[in-house]
Formats: sequence, structure tokens, C-alpha cells
Amino acid sequence: MSLGFDLIRTTDQGGRRARLDLPHQTVETPVFMPVGTAGTVKAVAQDVVETLGAQLILGNTYHLYLRPGHEAIRRMGGLHRFMSWPRALLTDSGGFQVFSLSQLRKVSDEGVRFRSHLDGSSHFFTPEHSMDVQIALGADIAMAFDECTEYPAERSRAEESLRLTLAWARRSIDHFRGHQNEVVWHDELNGRTQSLFGIVQGGMYRDLRRESAERLIEMNFDGYAIGGLSVGEPRDLTLEMIAEVLPLLPANKPRYVMGVGYPDEIEQYARMGVDMMDCVLPTRAARHGLLFTSEGRLNIKNKRYAEDQGPPDPACDCMVCRRYSRAYLRHLMQAGEALSGTLNTIHNLAYYLGIMSRVRAELQAAERVPGGLPPFRT
Ligand SMILES: [Zn+2]
Repeated sequence: MSLGFDLIRTTDQGGRRARLDLPHQTVETPVFMPVGTAGTVKAVAQDVVETLGAQLILGNTYHLYLRPGHEAIRRMGGLHRFMSWPRALLTDSGGFQVFSLSQLRKVSDEGVRFRSHLDGSSHFFTPEHSMDVQIALGADIAMAFDECTEYPAERSRAEESLRLTLAWARRSIDHFRGHQNEVVWHDELNGRTQSLFGIVQGGMYRDLRRESAERLIEMNFDGYAIGGLSVGEPRDLTLEMIAEVLPLLPANKPRYVMGVGYPDEIEQYARMGVDMMDCVLPTRAARHGLLFTSEGRLNIKNKRYAEDQGPPDPACDCMVCRRYSRAYLRHLMQAGEALSGTLNTIHNLAYYLGIMSRVRAELQAAERVPGGLPPFRT
């Protein structure tokens, strides 16, 4: 079995409270997934990430492939064991970083040739290679290799990009199905395997998004993601694309919106029926001194906090807000202390994870809408 998905409640706004059974963790959804790019949620140790209640975190295939290398990670027992993270992991396909970070990339139907942003070395990624790398890393969930359509994109460009993404999705799933039992923990976890999610693209064109969803569903992925959002488009367009695609996706499989968003966005999307979301925002903003709080955004560098004895967020009971003042966090930032990024990140993650926990409780308490589905197993 790859994954199980049990819908507990569905609201008439489309919100879903569900349980996602993955080989390393049973994940309560809707879930926010902190980003652990290079095998670490930057600045925070794994035991703290666990204490904060993170159930599922991301690793970036592009970064881990370049350093320390996927074969090295496989030899060390896979990414869970290497980074000592016992709960669930998801790896992206590497596509997004190839397009956003690497230099001199050249796209063909076969794949993408690119130069490493680290040392300029030349690499070639195909859908099959992305699957091999992700199977070596051994996350619970792997993602199909796609091309993230940039914004803005002319219609002809979005059409061509979608054609490529659909062809690569077919090759991804064919290769993955042939090799998914090779994951390093397969025998140890009683024959369980990784899952593979397809990624809906299509730029900001509603009909292309629909076509993308329909064609991917025919390929029978274990779950579906909506990608190519939060790429610079206005927020109402993000919402429009999500609202267009969600009703088309199979109700009995998990739905993941990639790379979103601000606190109010993740709350809104969760209520619309998005089960999974990830974003670098809480962790990246924290390292720049931006805290998300119940009173809005707070820039801890601001001079007005120089002698502020209050907690970062009076309504937050995270380990940082219970112990430290705004004045101290500001001082750490001003002094360039390493602890600054750590404490700021812990609070922001607690805030994001707290939102999801609250939304889950609300959805759990909602009236059950008739027409419940039997549990899905694959
Ligand atoms: Zn806090």
C-alpha cells in the first residue's frame, strides 16, 4: 500500500477533514508542511520541529541531488534516516528549482539540461531520472516531473508548457510504477511503498487548467497537486485557479496546493477543500525578522521594539512567546546572532501550524454532509 485517505468530514463549502495514512506517519489534514530544503527546516532542529507538531515536511530534490547526492542518501538508508526525521516526508520533482535556480538551462522534450548553481557543473534531468532520484531519497510522497509555467505567459507558451508537463507526467508515472518497490524502507515497513502525485499546470488559463486536471486523472495518480501558483500573479487569480481545479479532482484522493501562502490564504484554501500546502514564507520571512502574529505582521527589526518587554505574540503559547521578549528578539537580530533565525522560525512555524490545527478542529465540528465516501487505499 502507498497511502490511505479517510475523509472524516466534508463541509458544504467543500472543506475536508481527513486522515492521510502514509508509511511513516498518519497525517491529520488539512496540513501545512514546513519546507526542509536541504534536509533541514532551516535553523531549527528536528526534535523542535516535532515538538511544534509538524507531521509532514518537504525536501527539495534539486538541492539534495546536487549535495550530498541521492545515491549517498540511499546508501545511508534514505532521507528519513539520514536527517533523523521519523515522520512523513515529501520531495518535489526538482523541476521548480531547475527552472528558478540553475543557470543555462535548455529544455527539450527529452528533459532539461542545466548547470548547478553551486559549482557550474552540467546535469541532465528527465522525468525518469527525477523518479530515480526521488526513489533513492525515499520520501513518503514523490512528485511528477513538471515544468512550472512562469507568469505572465502568453497562451501559446502556456499551451506548449502544458503539453510538455502532460508528456512528462505520463513518463513519470510509468517509470515510478515500475520501480516504486525499490525504496530502501520497503521491506522494513511491511511492503509499503511511496506515492506519486501529479501536478496540474496550465498557467492562468482556466480551460488549460481543466484540461490538465482531466488528463492527469486519466493517468490515475495517488494524489493531485495544483502547481504553478504564487509565481507573481495577483492573489484573486490564484484563488480563481484553485476554485476552478478543486471540484474536478477526485474527492477520495488528497489535494495539494504547492507554494502557498500567507496565513489568511492557507486558512481560506483549507476551508475550500485543499488538504495539503507548503510554503517557504514562514521560515524565510523569520530569518529576515518578519513575524506572523495574531495582531498582524511584525517586523522585529523595528526600533519601536527596542525596549518592548512583551512577547512576540500575546496570543501565542509557543516556546518562544512563553519565554522571550520582543526586545530580546530584536537585539538578537541586530547583533546578527544565530539564535535570531532559530527563535523567529520557531514562532512562525508554531503560528502556521496553529492555524491548521484550529481549522481542523472547526472542520471536525462541522455538520457531516451526506454522501460520504469509502476510505481510499492504493
Ligand atoms: Zn509564538
